[in-house]
Amino acid sequence: MAINLGDSAHEAAWRKEVRSFIDRETPDALRGSGEMGEGSLFGRLGAIKEWRDRVAARGWIAPSWPAKYGGADMSIVDQFVMNEEFAEAGVPGNLGGFGVMMIGPTLIEHGTEEQKSEHLSRILKGEVIWCQGYSEPGAGSDLAALQTRAVRDGDEYVINGQKIWTTGAQFSDWMYMLVRTDPDAPKHRGITYLLVDMKSPGVTVRPLTTLAGTQTFNEVFFEDVRVPVRNRVGEENRGWYVGTTTLDFERSSIGNAIGVRKALEGLMRQARDGKEASFVRNPRVKTEFVDRWIECEVAKMLSYRVVSMQVRGLIPNYEASMCKMFSSELQQRIAGLSMHLYGMHGGVRNRASMGYMQAVSSTIAGGTTEVQKGIIATRGLGLPRG
Ligand SMILES: Cc1cc2nc3c(=O)[nH]c(=O)nc-3n(C[C@H](O)[C@H](O)[C@H](O)COP(=O)(O)OP(=O)(O)OC[C@H]3O[C@@H](n4cnc5c(N)ncnc54)[C@H](O)[C@@H]3O)c2cc1C
Repeated sequence: MAINLGDSAHEAAWRKEVRSFIDRETPDALRGSGEMGEGSLFGRLGAIKEWRDRVAARGWIAPSWPAKYGGADMSIVDQFVMNEEFAEAGVPGNLGGFGVMMIGPTLIEHGTEEQKSEHLSRILKGEVIWCQGYSEPGAGSDLAALQTRAVRDGDEYVINGQKIWTTGAQFSDWMYMLVRTDPDAPKHRGITYLLVDMKSPGVTVRPLTTLAGTQTFNEVFFEDVRVPVRNRVGEENRGWYVGTTTLDFERSSIGNAIGVRKALEGLMRQARDGKEASFVRNPRVKTEFVDRWIECEVAKMLSYRVVSMQVRGLIPNYEASMCKMFSSELQQRIAGLSMHLYGMHGGVRNRASMGYMQAVSSTIAGGTTEVQKGIIATRGLGLPRG
C-alpha cells in the first residue's frame, strides 16, 4: 500500500501561513536558535517574551483550547504542522508552558466556573507562571506513592511535605499539585488536586543546580501552608483522575524529532567546513553521522504514526512511548557525537559539553526510558507485567 505523507491542500495553505508568520515575526535574536550548540535560550529571555507575545497576538498560544476559552481550537493536524514549522525554523514552541499545556486544559475539563474565570485568561495573557508539583523524593515514576499531606481544617487545607524537580518554581506565581488527603485509602484513591499560590506563607523554594550548572528546577517545601478549599480541582480524594486527565495536546514529539535532526545538521555543517573536517575523514566518524541521520528519519516517522492515530480518533499509548523514548535517546547520541567533534577543541565547559550534560535529563523527564520500555513491553508486545 502506498503511503502519502504529503500535505492536503488545506495543510499546504496552513503550512504556508505559519511559515510566513515565522519569517515576518521572529525576533532576530531567535533566528536559528533551535540547533544544539547555538547557545542557551536562557540567555535570550527578552527575545523569547517578544516572540511569545507575537504568537499570542496571533491567537496561537493555546492551540488546543476551545475558542470559547480563548484558545485556537486547532485540529490535531494543524497543531502538528504548526509545531513542525516552529521546530524547522528553530524558534521556541510550546510557549504557554505548564499553564497552557497542563493546568489550563485541566481546569477546562474539571474546574469550577470561578476557577476558570480566575485563571484561564491570565494564563493566556502570560500574566502568571505555573509550575507542576507532582514529584517527591520518594515518588517519581511511581507517582501515586506521594506523601505530601493535606489535612482539612474548616474552609482550608493545611499542607505539609516536600516536592522536588519542580521546574521553574523559583519564577512561578502558582503551582498545581497533588497531595495526600486520605493516607488509609488505596494509594491512587487518597490523592487530591490543589491550586496553590506560591506566595502563601510556609512555601519555601530552594533551587537545585543541574549537572550542566543551570538552575531550572527546585525543591519546594510546605510547612503548614493554608489553601482555601475553593482551590481544590475536582472532588477530594479523586485528584489522581484529575491529574492524569487525558489532555488533548500534541503527543507526537515532532518538535523533538526535528530538533534532533537540526542539531545533527549543525554538526554536519561544522564537520564539512570547520577545523573538524580532517577528523571526519575517519570512516568510523562518517558512519556515526550516517547512523544518526537514519535515526532522525525514524524519529520523524514515529511522530507521524502518533499524529496519524490521533487524527483517526485513536489514543496513542505505547506508540507515544516509542516516540518519546527514541527521540530522547537519539538526542543523547547526537550530543555524544558533538562531544567527539568538539571535545578536542574546547575547554571542559564548551558548548558541546553543555549540550551533552543537558541531554542527560531528556530520558528522565516526562517518564524515564525504563518506564517507557515497560509500557512498550506490556501494552505493545503483550509481555506479562513483571
Ligand atoms: C528536566 C526535568 C524536569 C522535571 N520537571 C518536573 C516538574 O516540573 N514537576 C514534577 O513534578 N516533576 C518534574 N520532574 C521529575 C520527573 O517527573 C521524574 O524525575 C521522573 O518521573 C522520574 O522519577 P524519579 O526521578 O523519582 O526517578 P525514579 O522513579 O526513582 O527512578 C529511578 C530509576 O529507576 C527506574 N525505574 C523506576 N520505576 C521503574 C519501573 N517500573 N521499571 C523499570 N525501571 C524503573 C527509572 O527508570 C530510573 O532509572 C522533572 C524531571 C526532569 C529530569
